[in-house]
Amino acid sequence: MSLHEFDAETDELIWSVFRYALDRIKNQPPLDGPMTAGELFDRVGQTITPQGMGGNAALEVYAEHLAPASLSADHPRYLSYVPGAPSKTAAVFDLVVGSSSMCGSSWLDGAGLIYAENQALRWLSDLAGLPEEAGGCFVSGGTMANLSALVAARYTANQKRQDAGQGRPGRWAMLVADSAHSSVASASMAMDVEIISVPVDDQQRLRGAAVREAYQNCLEGTEIFAVVATAGTTNLGVIDALEEIGAAAQDLDLWFHIDAAYGGAALAAPSVRPQFAGIELCDSLTIDPHKWLYAPFDCAALLYRNPELARRAHTQKASYLDAIALRDEWNPSDLAIHLTRRPRGLPFWFSLAVHGTDAYEEAIETTLKVSQQAHQLIQAAPYLEMVCPPSLSVLVFRRTGWNAEQYQEWSDDLLAREIALVVPTKVDEETVLRLCIINPLTTKEDIAVVVDALA
Ligand SMILES: *Cc1c(COP(=O)(O)O)cnc(C)c1O
Repeated sequence: MSLHEFDAETDELIWSVFRYALDRIKNQPPLDGPMTAGELFDRVGQTITPQGMGGNAALEVYAEHLAPASLSADHPRYLSYVPGAPSKTAAVFDLVVGSSSMCGSSWLDGAGLIYAENQALRWLSDLAGLPEEAGGCFVSGGTMANLSALVAARYTANQKRQDAGQGRPGRWAMLVADSAHSSVASASMAMDVEIISVPVDDQQRLRGAAVREAYQNCLEGTEIFAVVATAGTTNLGVIDALEEIGAAAQDLDLWFHIDAAYGGAALAAPSVRPQFAGIELCDSLTIDPHKWLYAPFDCAALLYRNPELARRAHTQKASYLDAIALRDEWNPSDLAIHLTRRPRGLPFWFSLAVHGTDAYEEAIETTLKVSQQAHQLIQAAPYLEMVCPPSLSVLVFRRTGWNAEQYQEWSDDLLAREIALVVPTKVDEETVLRLCIINPLTTKEDIAVVVDALA
């Protein structure tokens, strides 16, 4: 078999790989579970050799040993972190993306791909109520989207100071609640800017007044350039007071970034859409289709109110790229920290194009309804107690009388028996349990299995 020539053996292997992929898409894989590196070595040993092990052997190693040592996040009882449950059509179209050597960096390279991706971004932008000029690109994850947005924010603030004849301040800073995702703290480290922690209210929401107060208390020599709000915190599902924060950001002339990596999908659900009022005020927005919008990993949408500001911050300058920059076309590579880019928005686009947006609304509403049923099941169990009211599709509750070790043992056992993935989290230093429901194939019965296992 040769690397690039197509021969009979290659043909046969391709069909084997297709059959395997098709089986994964058609039939729900088991939850499976991790193994140690030592255990994996005992099973598969050294897989890369000068001569190669051949197609059938490599596929067998993968199917029999490597894949089963990895969790399937689309299992209906994968209920921790934020699961990922791609639609069948999105999943299969990822094969097309992988089998085409087409790059989504520049319009010159990928006009058709980018046209399609931009329509998917347009749908999200419209759901958020952003203006016609808004736009962005797909990046690998919410982490990269948040970093790219905040880099654009800081660059813009820097330019403003320069235009006003001022130099750099002593220290750049951004206003962030403790409930914000850890990736915002990572971005602050990468950017070497300070985080000014803003307290949340008793419902765990960041409020406008707290933002204004933190701004007033800012120390001399520190200049705040952005405020970050979360629309659906990862741990509790809480949506910050976006309208109030947006108004504060406008008054204080701050970039308003909203991290809706998890929650943004619920913009498509009429039953909860009003909770997002004010999202249209943002300067930049992160939504992860690989979470609650049924795209395969890895696919995050990054939107800007004014993409021109992002372009100024992110366009790479190199002699071999300058001709592209002169063409004045839509280049996703100009809008985030990346250059060569998998057109990772295409599986999402394909699924949207096939099923229509109503199907998304319905699927998301289904998960919200199952979340309500889960809430009822938890309330009905005498040994369980909600820690806070449910928000979006996140439920946080305690098993009365348990300590941290008991939670962990229970969780490990549940996974070892491949029943469910439910890992403990912490709220105010207390170890508790958390469920996050985004998969429309997760049913009330799946939740009952978990609730019963806690008895
Ligand atoms: C998941 C999440 C992120 C990080 O996104 P990745 O795609 O995992 O990089 C950021 N913010 C929020 C609110 C999230 O839920």
